[in-house]
Amino acid sequence: MALIVQKFGGSSVANAERVFNVARRVVETYDAGNSVVVVVSAQGDTTDDLIAKSKEISKTPSKREMDAFLSAGEQMSMTLLAMAIQELGKSAISLAGWQVGIHTDSQYSASRIKKISSERIMKELDARKIVVVAGFQGINKYDDITTLGRGGSDTSAVAIAAALHADKCEIFTDVDGVYTADPRIVANAQKLDDISYDEMLELASLGANVLHNRSVEMAKKFNVQLVVRSSLNKNEGTIVREVKKVEQMLVRGVTRDNDVARISICEIKDDPGKAFQVFSLLSKKQINVDVILQSIGRDGTKDISFTTSQDHLQSALDVLNDNLDSLEASRIIHTEDVSKVSIVGAGMVNNPGVATLMFEALYDAGINISMISTSEIKISVLIPKEDAERAVRVIHDKFNLHA
Ligand code: ADP
Ligand code: ASP
Ligand code: MG
Repeated sequence: MALIVQKFGGSSVANAERVFNVARRVVETYDAGNSVVVVVSAQGDTTDDLIAKSKEISKTPSKREMDAFLSAGEQMSMTLLAMAIQELGKSAISLAGWQVGIHTDSQYSASRIKKISSERIMKELDARKIVVVAGFQGINKYDDITTLGRGGSDTSAVAIAAALHADKCEIFTDVDGVYTADPRIVANAQKLDDISYDEMLELASLGANVLHNRSVEMAKKFNVQLVVRSSLNKNEGTIVREVKKVEQMLVRGVTRDNDVARISICEIKDDPGKAFQVFSLLSKKQINVDVILQSIGRDGTKDISFTTSQDHLQSALDVLNDNLDSLEASRIIHTEDVSKVSIVGAGMVNNPGVATLMFEALYDAGINISMISTSEIKISVLIPKEDAERAVRVIHDKFNLHA
């Protein structure tokens, strides 16, 4: 008998028919003699709808209240799924994050899981119940409900699989697995049979929201082998695991991230310590900075540009404008009309031709690059937002990634 964790995302439980589809699938696994823990997300667009509802009351709601509010979405689907399983004649129990003992830190809206108590789940499994757990949520040291960030149910599932030493962790979604690009953008993208933790972590962090990036981080840390597959068919999915041998394929995937803003500090004095001053102001406000570009000094001044996520934009602008005099800069400009498009692949290290091919694809398509950043396993470019999907397609083509 194996212990299996199965996670079903929002689209997989979007309506009553889908909830029963999931219930049947779970029961099938259970009837094969396994212990089953199911993690569910809120139905369909529920989380977006709840966010919109909160905005009717407040434009800047307290994060603590928002977490309690949004957690309701997952609690609705966990109970509905437990009811559906019971309708199929099996014994099921739903548990919210606090009931399980999913302990997190206190960073509301982006909490990290610190510890999961396994007693309650194990007790229910020992009684041969199917245990349905609400994803995306936990509880902090003040006994307040917390949430793990958008897409966080994947992380709940992996954390539970790690805590229970599960034999398998399956992430069911609305596509057949992890593709070389978002199949909604690139129609002929290819499904990958397997992908390494490191490559998947980069893809997820660079905008491929098929997996929450923290879930991949955690799977790697605790050596949980993940399978990403469709809840709507029985096709084999993509296995995410430690891949020892780097495959021939240089580039595994192309992705884009629209949650980007670019800020430029113009004509800042060309003195030592200016970059230090800028980025310490930002880090004191917990603002994460991504790509950084500094121009060569000319006439005693230079420009420093960087990117951040859109929710950090306003606080970054505020802190920089408040310190404009001490920074000795002329002005701060910004734009949200940018996207980051990236290629990822462990095999690209030591292959200088890869960057050239990517830039050639963009040149052929007449797409202008404003920033570039590279690491051993990825190359990212900042381009106009309106060109992002086209860029993903032409780069995908250039590297012959199609099926
Ligand atoms: P769920 O509700 O199941 O968590 P998500 O919407 O969070 O589902 O993630 C699945 C979606 O991720 C797919 O519908 C697809 O559009 C998108 N996606 C983005 N990049 C990729 C990729 N490289 N491979 C597969 N899907 C991707
Ligand atoms: N319901 C949450 C969201 O929409 C969590 C998740 O789906 O994983 O972000
Ligand atoms: Mg998701």
